[in-house]
Amino acid sequence: MRANQRSHSLLRVHDRMDEPVCPICLEPERMIPARLFIDDRPSVCAACRKRFKPHKRSYAVDGVVFHVLYEYEEWIETLFFQYKEQRDVALRDVFLEGEASALRRKLRSFQCVAVCSSEAKRAERGFEPVLDIFSSLNLPLESPFYRVGSQKQSTLSASARRSIQMALRRKRHYPLPPAKKRILLDDVLTTGSTIQAALTLLPCEAVLVVAAHPLWIQTHRHERIKSRFWK
Ligand SMILES: [Zn+2]
Repeated sequence: MRANQRSHSLLRVHDRMDEPVCPICLEPERMIPARLFIDDRPSVCAACRKRFKPHKRSYAVDGVVFHVLYEYEEWIETLFFQYKEQRDVALRDVFLEGEASALRRKLRSFQCVAVCSSEAKRAERGFEPVLDIFSSLNLPLESPFYRVGSQKQSTLSASARRSIQMALRRKRHYPLPPAKKRILLDDVLTTGSTIQAALTLLPCEAVLVVAAHPLWIQTHRHERIKSRFWK
């Protein structure tokens, strides 16, 4: 599957350059029901749009409310791989597409704080995924953390993943304006250890992740709460 993704993404070429195409499948965008979007710029075609299965649930974990947009299943995983590891930056807006204006309204009252990648990952990719994805909301985004070390979490053992908490640090000279409410933003919630490390360094009322791993969702299923966030 990875080999297919690679060739697909490298063949980001089409012969009718004047025609907008879906950033995922590269098909022309004629089928997009543009009226469904108010101020969210439509780009994903109807066929790809159907493959997005929003989770849109909230969980109260140790006094912090976690809002989860998608479950991290195969489709989202493929998109994240293509975007982050193959650096297909055209996909930056597909993760929040259709949600951006609602999220902008919800997040307006929060100070938005982004979790970061390591220096090595940032240098390799040339962009910071969380800041990049959430930039479509046109809200101020704070980035008060940095990381030491560059190991990919999924390649680590469980005990090594726990020690990744050591890898997140708070920038010493980052002036963070005082805020009544603060929300932590991340792209993929895997074990939750990075989020926990961030919350220890900087308390936040809420967390918003683009996608949460099915195991995390399963583990926290009894902590699911009713929330107006996704209304
Ligand atoms: Zn498409």
